Amino acid sequence: MSKLKNKVAVITGGNSGIGFGIAEAFKSEGAAGAIVGRNHLTLELSAAQLGSDFIAINADVTNLADLERVFKDTAEKFGKIDVLVANAGAGTTGTVADVSEAEYNKTMDLNLKSVYFTVQKALPYMNDGGSIILIGSNAAHRAYPSFGLYGAAKAAVIFLAKSFSSDLLTRKIRVNVITPGTTDTPAFDKFVPAEKIEAVKTQFASVMPIGRIGQPSDIGKTAVFLASEDSSFLLGAELLVDGGMTYLA
Ligand code: NDP
Repeated sequence: MSKLKNKVAVITGGNSGIGFGIAEAFKSEGAAGAIVGRNHLTLELSAAQLGSDFIAINADVTNLADLERVFKDTAEKFGKIDVLVANAGAGTTGTVADVSEAEYNKTMDLNLKSVYFTVQKALPYMNDGGSIILIGSNAAHRAYPSFGLYGAAKAAVIFLAKSFSSDLLTRKIRVNVITPGTTDTPAFDKFVPAEKIEAVKTQFASVMPIGRIGQPSDIGKTAVFLASEDSSFLLGAELLVDGGMTYLA
């Protein structure tokens, strides 16, 4: 039986990588909904792949007026919102010796502030009993070189899952967080020169305890669990989906 039949979901960053993997997994379990991003082309292509049950909404998650429009438009189209995935984000690099104030603000605006206000702006439209899934990162758990600021933003996101769950107890909205390890997405490719991508992926896979890097579908399956009744006893929980890389490598 489809685990998300008749559920309506909003997935920020649903036009690429992990977000698209989540959208595909939701679709395969019977959900409909909206994917949200800034890139018109990838939005349209992704929505076309997902089919007529999904709409694409062009919006910047760091812009609060855009966020209000996202949830208003989704609720108008589908009549309700059951599931929110606050996934949009991006890794940034730099050590404490060299990150500028502008880079600091950009990292925090996208990876922390946007998550806070994505949830806030969704609340008036979300069903009581719904599920909110935040996307953190295993970089919150280990001091990977140059990923300190990004890791700090994601560590705060892990805390927000608990704090939001507490705030939303009366509405029975569960908020949980997935923390992916290295996952094969366009974002991964941005950190590596094009001609070295395959070699670097092979090298990463060789040091992963599970023997491979993650795929967006790994996160998609976990998100289906958190969106569905199967996880009805999870509140403020973190699921580390990392093939063992954070603590076992
Ligand atoms: P991608 O670059 O493939 O996807 C990022 C998505 O976020 C895109 O759809 C992008 O859409 C959207 N996005 C970025 N900025 C904005 C913005 N200001 N407004 C709206 N949408 C935005 O990256 P991943 O799939 O790898 O990353 C998804 C999430 O997973 C992120 O939060 C990332 O930090 C996290 N993560 C990724 C890991 C990995 O190894 N890949 C590991 C751990 C965590 P558009 O460009 O159209 O705006």
